[in-house]
Amino acid sequence: MFDVVTGGAGFIGSHLVDTLVAQGNEVLVIDSLYAGRRQTIARHIDDYKVRFIQSDLLGDGWQEHLEGADRIFHLAADPDVRQSAINPDPTLQNNIMATYRVLEAMRLYAVPELVFTSTSTVYGDAKIIPTPEDYAPMLPVSVYGATKLACEALISSYCHSFGMKSWIYRFANIVGERSGHGVITDFIRKLKENPAELEILGDGKQVKSYLEVHECVAAMLFALRSRDTVNIYNIGSEDWIDVRSIAEIVAEEMHLPNIKFRFTGGERGWVGDVPRMQLSIDRIKSRRWKPEIGSQDSVRIATRDLLKAL
Ligand code: NAD
Repeated sequence: MFDVVTGGAGFIGSHLVDTLVAQGNEVLVIDSLYAGRRQTIARHIDDYKVRFIQSDLLGDGWQEHLEGADRIFHLAADPDVRQSAINPDPTLQNNIMATYRVLEAMRLYAVPELVFTSTSTVYGDAKIIPTPEDYAPMLPVSVYGATKLACEALISSYCHSFGMKSWIYRFANIVGERSGHGVITDFIRKLKENPAELEILGDGKQVKSYLEVHECVAAMLFALRSRDTVNIYNIGSEDWIDVRSIAEIVAEEMHLPNIKFRFTGGERGWVGDVPRMQLSIDRIKSRRWKPEIGSQDSVRIATRDLLKAL
């Protein structure tokens, strides 16, 4: 099996690469290192198990390397919801335009299958909680969510127009070692700077699903058993945790028992934040996959792994 992983030097991508290499697949990583680090996959490159091309998908020169590929795992994206409300253009370029360019390259080089990492934010402020995959109307409240929804639409149209298959995974919050963004990383950074007080964006009551990255990769590979033209799955845990409880776990793991929490207030932590994100994972469970741990343990394990790496 010849797999291409865009964004393979990033957080989730590098864990996916570890698993694909362990399965004995031929792996090509394309990453601009815009946010990823070569170091995350360096051992595979040194062992000649992974070929690495440092290239921006918005540029050229990478497309011909897709010749003969069986699948593309397209993870490269700008995943920063907050930044997308400050300066939308990089999000539009790195998400919509880059995905369009991947689809065009697939069409030209006859790559038959695409795995795409979408997000819970495509649902916006969903009125049905937990939110199933067929929830409508999908009205994202962040530019990031909107770009991912646009990508989903493009992917569906390419699959139906050009005989490709796709797997669209709407992730909850994925946490774990090598994560460079998200609430746990943010809390650890802030607490390293000031161990006496932690600023929490919003009222701390935002409730969301968190899934540990190894479980996420396992679910991504498991759901490939579905063979429809477009296969859509929510990937998350079966339960939820609020932001205040995450802060308590991080403080506990950093041995800071007397810390003061300071809330910035409001039900949303930032523009585009969704205060309640609880995905229904009934669809993937009905195919007989479920996560082994819940949100709380995912957060604790991720905190420990991130602290070890510091
Ligand atoms: P990440 O930032 O660690 O990884 C993204 C990678 O893409 C980086 O290595 C970056 O250098 C690369 N990249 C970005 N733009 C590029 C471009 N134009 N050309 C080539 N490479 C480019 O992010 P992540 O958390 O690992 O996310 C991976 C995917 O999963 C993204 O598509 C993200 O939107 C999606 N996702 C992540 C989460 C989460 O909780 N981490 C949740 C929902 C969806």
